[in-house]
Amino acid sequence: MTLDSTIEWTDATWNPVRGCTKISPGCKHCYAETFAERFRGVKGHPYEQGFDLRLVPEKVAEPLRWRTPRMIFVNSMSDLFHDAVPDEYIEAVAKVMVAANWHTYQVLTKRSERLRQLLNSRLKFAAEQPHIWWGVSVEDQPYGVPRIADLQAADAAVRFLSIEPLLEDIGKLNLAGINWVIVGGESGPGARPMEKEWVLSLKNQCREASVPFFFKQWGGVRKSAAGRKLNGRTYDEFPRRIQNSVLPSSACFSLATNIEESLKMVALEPCFA
Ligand code: SF4
Repeated sequence: MTLDSTIEWTDATWNPVRGCTKISPGCKHCYAETFAERFRGVKGHPYEQGFDLRLVPEKVAEPLRWRTPRMIFVNSMSDLFHDAVPDEYIEAVAKVMVAANWHTYQVLTKRSERLRQLLNSRLKFAAEQPHIWWGVSVEDQPYGVPRIADLQAADAAVRFLSIEPLLEDIGKLNLAGINWVIVGGESGPGARPMEKEWVLSLKNQCREASVPFFFKQWGGVRKSAAGRKLNGRTYDEFPRRIQNSVLPSSACFSLATNIEESLKMVALEPCFA
């Protein structure tokens, strides 16, 4: 777990999976890949294996040991619903989120079909929890927009869209059942530009549909210079957060031990083994 994340819409990150593979144009300048590959081959570093996908079972129970309520971005350095992550591993991550319910979790994926399938079956127990927010990335019309329908078809209590990096005008969206929208431009070397009209259209659609709107950044090669104001103001809106009490330490310890024990034999699916 990393406290004090620099990501504007969360407090902390938790990565029970590390690494990923690219799936759509939004992945082109993946910040997680750039970061992880810097440490490939550095002995003992968490990213010694660069961006290669791997399970990190010793991290799964972390939120149970963290007593201060936080907003936690789940798998900022991976995609929980990647094909190679076994169902039972995703279920264990979901069990931790349900048990450590004094935190708010933000689970974001580009693998929306698998999210829909699992939330409507094996993960139903987690989907219905209001402290777990399930989201899909929407970067363009051909790849991003179809993910929204998958999310809407998932039986989730809280659904959100991360429209970042916004690569084109994505037109009129169906926001039925969507509880939060984040919008942002791409940053870093080679950043693809984002037009103000695209952002304003999304902000206005959120206003019409009464959906909280969070404007993360303009992005660009120098993100801090471009800032995050839209028409002279910031937009930092969130869905309502649920407040639950923190479990006693002894209960957390025993839950964490049981979950860690259940993961001992779980490995990546064969295509990545
Ligand atoms: S899905 Fe996310 S983590 Fe995976 S490569 Fe794409 S941008 Fe990176």
